[in-house]
Amino acid sequence: MTFSDLGLCKELLDAIKDQGYTKPSPIQEQAIPIILEKKDVLAGAQTGTGKTAGFTLPILQRLHDKKRGTGKPHVRALILTPTRELAAQVGENVKTYGKYLPFKSTIVFGGVGINPQRAAIRKGVDIVIATPGRLLDLISQDSLDLGRVEFFVLDEADRMLDMGFIHDIKKVLALLPAHRQNLLFSATFSDDIKKLADKLLNNPELIEVARRNTSSETVEQVVHHVDRERKRDLLIHLIKKDNWKQVLVFTRTKHGANRLSEQLNKFDISSSAIHGNKSQGARTKALADFKAGNIKVLVATDIAARGIDIDQLPHVVNFELPNVAEDYVHRIGRTGRAGREGEAVSLVCVDEHDYLKGIEKLINKQIKKVIIEGFEVNPSIKAEPITRSGQNRGNSSNNTNSSRNNRNKNDSRTSKNNPRNNPRANTNSSRSNSRKTQGKSSGRA
Ligand code: AMP
Repeated sequence: MTFSDLGLCKELLDAIKDQGYTKPSPIQEQAIPIILEKKDVLAGAQTGTGKTAGFTLPILQRLHDKKRGTGKPHVRALILTPTRELAAQVGENVKTYGKYLPFKSTIVFGGVGINPQRAAIRKGVDIVIATPGRLLDLISQDSLDLGRVEFFVLDEADRMLDMGFIHDIKKVLALLPAHRQNLLFSATFSDDIKKLADKLLNNPELIEVARRNTSSETVEQVVHHVDRERKRDLLIHLIKKDNWKQVLVFTRTKHGANRLSEQLNKFDISSSAIHGNKSQGARTKALADFKAGNIKVLVATDIAARGIDIDQLPHVVNFELPNVAEDYVHRIGRTGRAGREGEAVSLVCVDEHDYLKGIEKLINKQIKKVIIEGFEVNPSIKAEPITRSGQNRGNSSNNTNSSRNNRNKNDSRTSKNNPRNNPRANTNSSRSNSRKTQGKSSGRA
């Protein structure tokens, strides 16, 4: 199948050609015709499958087919994403694919000044790509009207719910006109996602291009068991040995990301950290430097790295395993995108064996284990509990299981009243406190 078989107009085909895409990806092959038929869609797609073009292209086509009246543009398509980085990326894609069409789009997210966003909307836009908090801020200031939205996309819906955005999503839904086309994309399907889909979607077509909770097949996954204190040396060894040029490294905590990045710089490995405590300007700069190849290593926490799309990113390293197994799938989905090969390396110490078991259960596969010479595990080192903030506590404990259970019970993902759980600390800093405590996310990013 080719893109022209899908019935896209010349302006879109030319833009696709400029991108060098030769054929639609499986999600595009399935989603584009259904969306063009004006049906609602519930899509399960792995990260990196080309899902953004899967919904952007047919929306642009439909906007093109269904000409609006003369006068200033109004918001006809709304795309909601969980993070600023993803909003920025989807916004770029909309511009790229729509470059030969006359539609105006704008990106709306927190952490940066609201006035330029308000001004852009005032001039008139057809497509808004937004994170929920800032969108609601603009609406509450009468700067944005969703009353004539024809297309509503909820991207990475599972992450939205993880980050505690359900109340904001409901508020947005209440402002949309009853008659509209809805598209819901999610990498994983929980009962909560199914409930949301039931509420949002009208007789949807179900598309699934990969089995649920599987990890990308083009990513080669490997685990290196290593002692807790030797992870940094092993990472440096791996980067230097094979002369890795572009590595995205995940840590569990913001503090851990800062520290590791500083240490790598001391060893002449250029690096920056990206997490929710950094200003939006610093986040944007770190990502741009990494994409441009000015720095070798970007050390990131989960929320900040969500949605990052780096062309041909060859290596992802889990310096620490995530405490939520689904995050592993998202992390390694940063490489091996759009059918290209990638490598995901996890450095696993004795404290993280339960996390590894949880991940292997989720992806339904045993990850290859390779011991690196010179970094063999010292069996006398005992597991230590990982604190709620994601760090290893300095004290050894023989009663590891009970400590870990205790941690899990207290895990801040489930502790709604914990002020650390402020999803918008990472996305939309200007929201009110009452909404800040509704999040389920760890808020650690
Ligand atoms: P996404 O899953 O939307 O984040 O897309 C992942 C990557 O795949 C992006 O870098 C896109 O530019 C790229 N991509 C999207 N569609 C295609 C296609 N049909 N052929 C090749 N690359 C694509």
